[in-house]
Amino acid sequence: MTKQTMNFQAEVAQLLHLVTHSLYSNKEIFLRELISNASDACDKLRFEAINNSGLYENDPELKVKVTFDKDAKTLTITDNGIGLSQQEAIDNLGTIAKSGTKDFVSKLSGDQKADSQLIGQFGVGFYSGFIVADKITVESRRAGLPADQAVRWVSDGGASGGGAFEVESITREARGTSVILHLRDDAQDYAQAWKVKGIINKYSDHISLPIQMEKEEWKDGELINPSDENGGRQPGAMVKTGEWETVNKANAIWARAKKDISPEQYDDFYKQISHDFEAPLAHTHNRVEGSTEYTQLLYIPGKAPMDLYNREKSAGVKLYVKRVFIMDDAEALLPTYLRFVKGVVDSVDLPLNVSRELLQESRDVKAIREGNTKRVLSMLETLAKHDKLPEAGADGVTDVVSEEDKAQVGKYSKFYAEFGAVLKEGLGEDFANKERLAKLLRFASSTTDSVSVSLADYKARMKEGQEAIYYITADNAAAAKNSPQLEVFKKKGIEVLLMTDRVDEWALNYLHDFDGTPMQSVAKGAVDLGKLQDEAEKKAAEEAAEAFKPLLAKLKEALKDKAQDVRVTTRLVDSPACLVVQDDGMSTQLARMLKQAGQ
Ligand code: ADP
Ligand code: MG
Repeated sequence: MTKQTMNFQAEVAQLLHLVTHSLYSNKEIFLRELISNASDACDKLRFEAINNSGLYENDPELKVKVTFDKDAKTLTITDNGIGLSQQEAIDNLGTIAKSGTKDFVSKLSGDQKADSQLIGQFGVGFYSGFIVADKITVESRRAGLPADQAVRWVSDGGASGGGAFEVESITREARGTSVILHLRDDAQDYAQAWKVKGIINKYSDHISLPIQMEKEEWKDGELINPSDENGGRQPGAMVKTGEWETVNKANAIWARAKKDISPEQYDDFYKQISHDFEAPLAHTHNRVEGSTEYTQLLYIPGKAPMDLYNREKSAGVKLYVKRVFIMDDAEALLPTYLRFVKGVVDSVDLPLNVSRELLQESRDVKAIREGNTKRVLSMLETLAKHDKLPEAGADGVTDVVSEEDKAQVGKYSKFYAEFGAVLKEGLGEDFANKERLAKLLRFASSTTDSVSVSLADYKARMKEGQEAIYYITADNAAAAKNSPQLEVFKKKGIEVLLMTDRVDEWALNYLHDFDGTPMQSVAKGAVDLGKLQDEAEKKAAEEAAEAFKPLLAKLKEALKDKAQDVRVTTRLVDSPACLVVQDDGMSTQLARMLKQAGQ
């Protein structure tokens, strides 16, 4: 292949512009991204080599080397992983193959802080090199291909205005990839060992293969004039020794003992796998032994990704088998409603060549999924328990709260605001854990503005004689609060839960009762207030029904195509009339949703 100039896909050009302008304050992430790509490339080689050991050629020790050249102003990341063929270089480094990219780019606002959050989540990956480089050269040979079918890819990231890159054939003996960053003038720091080492320690310590740098040692300058020992020496410098040292711990964080891992290291690992800049809300790390053996390290993020509601995407758990990376987004390891969880599962029992299809059927996977679900739910329960500081008890005494518990205050509310709606999907998806899930739900109510009322709180506040948990579904809290259907409840001082998530209607189909108390929509049928209604009220209602019979007959006739029934009600206080749904009918909210969906 002779040298060719090609254009980036439009989204890449746009992304590149944003990367270089928005990630300024998070410059150093480029190294994390490039090392993570190098590590992915080694994982891929190891995986392909399971069925084709020839791919190792004569170089079976997978590693990443980071080198710099102060004079040439370059920083180079080299791996001996799977490498790129010429076509792969064009495809993978010129387009963004991931789905949802356009969507992502369109969400960027130009506001630096918000954008860098989004970009971080999305994972700019390779293109982040342009934060510190004004030109990137990639040289690569794919495992198994002859030396003369290697490729060189060069781009200035669109700085020249063309939005273009060049590719050409080269000869390269070494398998794998070198990414050569030609550092910008303001990024010369990254051509210094201490700086680079620091970033590797911070972000890439857990990478399970060695990351090596060439050792340097101090060398005094030459004596120019031996008789004048102090003044006659040239300045000294660090010089390379030709010896390599491994600068990361090169051992997977989840395989280490908990006591050897600091909170920062847990957080850093999360940031690495999630591309999130913020620390997670909680994590759980366990080695599970028994009939199925595995290690789980799972995190609850503090922020929802933008594609959270896409049920097809964004399972966040990586699967390893005995430390060998098998796949990203292993959706079989957690139920769909927990797709916001990020982390790693490392199984002892699964075969290395396990496929997605096999995963669906495996008993071990089923056990792992159940174990993961339990752990995530108990993490959430712990967060929920410490969400608020305890109030003084009846005796006026407040429990002493540990610093650790104090640090958890507000986390569950934060979680719920981001992921509550997704959690509710579990009511219809995970019957085995329905009760635990129901306890984790939070709602706004007619007497509380924030989304903070649990079903247990509600029960504790129920009126004498109240036999149901009342709720109303609506598009938003204002509409729910002002609904005429609430009037009688307001009058009697009965709390009503306000359900305003789109998923509520559907989810509540699966939640008929909580802890023995039925859930009752106030918008359905003739609301039976049961013992809450006094005799006089009942009598008045009956009398009114009798007195208005002739009017009801006329109204029924007039509305016969529009309403199934017309009745006298006690549920209204100020409004003259309201629409309700038959007890067994679809609720108005659900009907509206189906209509919107074109059904
Ligand atoms: P991601 O890693 O999320 O796929 P990146 O932008 O980081 O996205 O990388 C884009 C693609 O470029 C990768 O999916 C991979 O195919 C290819 N790539 C990048 N770096 C390397 C490398 N060191 N070796 C082989 N392929 C690489
Ligand atoms: Mg990447």
